[in-house]
Amino acid sequence: ATPTALMVGTGRSARMGILIKNGEVLEAVNDVKTVIFDKTGTITVGKPQVTDVIGDKDQVLRIAASLEESSEHPLATAIIKKTNESNLAMSPSQSFKAIEGKGVQATIDGQTTFVGNDKLLNDVSVSDDLKRQMTELQNQAKTVVFVGQADRIIGLIAIQDAPKPTSKDAISALKSQGLKTVMLTGDNLAVSQAIANEVGIDQVVADVLPADKADQVKKFQESGKVAFVGDGINDAPALSTADVGIAMGSGTDIAIESGGIVLVKNDLRDVYKALELSKKTFNRIK
Ligand code: ADP
Ligand code: MG
Repeated sequence: ATPTALMVGTGRSARMGILIKNGEVLEAVNDVKTVIFDKTGTITVGKPQVTDVIGDKDQVLRIAASLEESSEHPLATAIIKKTNESNLAMSPSQSFKAIEGKGVQATIDGQTTFVGNDKLLNDVSVSDDLKRQMTELQNQAKTVVFVGQADRIIGLIAIQDAPKPTSKDAISALKSQGLKTVMLTGDNLAVSQAIANEVGIDQVVADVLPADKADQVKKFQESGKVAFVGDGINDAPALSTADVGIAMGSGTDIAIESGGIVLVKNDLRDVYKALELSKKTFNRIK
């Protein structure tokens, strides 16, 4: 009866838009203690919008967009969209370089130009006034990037990515089952904490470089089995490392390949449903 129960269980879940790709995840679900979520595109909509520009607005946007034209990051898309809406002409850039988890850099108008977070600043100093404005924006759950030219900051761009309308319910369903919920992100702590508070996440691990996401999963595995929910290229190692990898159907191909469960409808509430269904299926075949 074992294979039949498995087929019935996974057949029913498939109709609900929950694809269970292998039996291994079924064995792990009963012991899951922690559910870790990626932020961008998983808890949030993943379509960030520019909300504030500090400095000479047109100049800051134009320079930033000229650089971000070569990037595929969601923050780049937001900056380019805003620049196009303002009808600003971009400048050509040379020697473009994306620095994982930090930002982008290139030569524009003969000057080294960058857009990114504080990890990209090196020796460039930031005035107290700018720091204050940055903190204020971050506390409003906005991601803030510096725009710099040569050794000087020319401005800040604040970008907001709202939580999905269902994220809060999804988190509270998991918490009601006694599961611990964690957000794991490359974004800054103030921003991530503000979003975590909005949706009720228990713990935030921020400023994590893409290469370190899997190691963070291992740390949580010291206190029980872990489910990881993500969508991005940078989530693939964490999805494979977790006992139960859950990929959003809207995610990148590599994330979907790395997940043992795929949520076709991209509804975060299906994380709870997927865990419950897997438990029922496993307990029937056991
Ligand atoms: P996440 O875990 O949220 O998907 P990433 O690792 O992709 O985050 O990026 C982490 C941080 O690196 C961003 O919040 C931003 O500060 C900076 N960053 C990365 N790529 C870019 C880019 N193209 N432009 C500006 N900033 C960037
Ligand atoms: Mg993501």
